[in-house]
Amino acid sequence: MRAPVRLNSAGVLPEARLKGVTILGATGSIGVSTLDVLARHPQRYRVVALTANTQAEGLFEQCQRFHPEVAVLRDPAAATRLEDMIRRAGLRIQVLAGAEALETVARDPGSDIVMAAIVGAAGLLPVLEAVRAGKRVLLANKEPLVMSGPVLMQEARRSGAEILPIDSEHNAIFQCMPAGYRTGDKPAGVRRILLTCSGGPFRATPAEALRNVTPDEACAHPRWAMGRKISVDSATLMNKGLELIEACRLFDVTPDQVQIVIHPQSVIHSMVEYTDGSVLAQLGNPDMRTPIAHALAWPERIESGVRQLDLFEIARLDFAPPDLKRFPCLRLAQAAAQAGGTAPAILNAANEMAVNAFLEGHIRFTQIAEVIEYTLAVVQESDEATLESILASDQCARNAAGQYIAAHASQPKRDQP
Ligand code: NAD
Ligand code: MG
Repeated sequence: MRAPVRLNSAGVLPEARLKGVTILGATGSIGVSTLDVLARHPQRYRVVALTANTQAEGLFEQCQRFHPEVAVLRDPAAATRLEDMIRRAGLRIQVLAGAEALETVARDPGSDIVMAAIVGAAGLLPVLEAVRAGKRVLLANKEPLVMSGPVLMQEARRSGAEILPIDSEHNAIFQCMPAGYRTGDKPAGVRRILLTCSGGPFRATPAEALRNVTPDEACAHPRWAMGRKISVDSATLMNKGLELIEACRLFDVTPDQVQIVIHPQSVIHSMVEYTDGSVLAQLGNPDMRTPIAHALAWPERIESGVRQLDLFEIARLDFAPPDLKRFPCLRLAQAAAQAGGTAPAILNAANEMAVNAFLEGHIRFTQIAEVIEYTLAVVQESDEATLESILASDQCARNAAGQYIAAHASQPKRDQP
């Protein structure tokens, strides 16, 4: 017979019974929301490692509050600054530096759950390590899945890792799947996935006005507060294109089985249509703490801090098809999804380069699609998507996109009146 579990004086489970959580990208929008949910449940979770890119001060504040065992900064100079702050504050936290240290903490046996919340392809190798180590991987960082979905899903099958989607749409789809469904499997009885999309900040902006939009306008999303890269992706609708590929990877459906539905209220986070005509939807206020809490505790349910949905306040829900003429990035992503192989990795790399160039003021908003279209045309894609061919395609695409950007960089971002 098992001994009864004893609560300690604070009424919480002993340390060893708490689930260990590591957050890759702790200082970002998803990282901060994850810590907010964890802070509501000290009796269930303990923070094992927190990582960031260069934000020593932000990570230090999180270390003071959450006392992880390890803190990692990819940038070595920032890690030295953090180490200094930690020493002066008298905290006992190990500080590691560099990209490889992200992989080390991702596979560390001390953690049960890894929140993958780095932005972009930089998250690929740490996510792969967490999957290989058989963790529960909460996947916000969609780009690794777009680049190398079959590799990640195959590794998960081998190691027993649970990949649970954090992207609100994919988390909604997962919640609408049959009981016992596991990501990567073909779901029984599913006809289509209806992937909802807010339409972004330029849903109603005329085509001719799009060339003059600024990075700040592109990042002012009407429904969600997010990091700058995904905000621009949401404005070009590339985010929905990446999510189409993400859905095909996670739920083993073809691109034809995914219909994109513009739904400006962002209340229905996506739907699953079954062969008998039933359509199941997941609804909620647009707040990432819901999918984060869902995936942390799944199959249980825990408090997330999200405001209750008030249907009378919302009053109506609208639906429309996307406009592929004004938003060519979505068309390019659909083509890459159909092509398969390394095409999604090429699309993703070109998009990362183009979004960065736009945010830095080197190209116009409307040139983002041009960079991607050019890169997809010149970089040879391969049908065989191994980790090696994906990393090689990613590099070739970055080189090609970089050349196009250098040759077409426009100085003033706005037309003179
Ligand atoms: P963000 O820019 O706010 O945060 C990114 C985090 O990753 C930061 O902690 C940063 O320090 C770290 N990081 C950035 N570059 C890095 C590098 N080269 N090496 C190591 N660490 C690095 O981004 P976000 O909005 O939190 O998004 C994170 C991921 O989650 C993205 O892939 C995004 O598409 C996805 N996502 C975000 C939301 C959202 O609401 N923010 C919703 C769905 C999906
Ligand atoms: Mg999403």
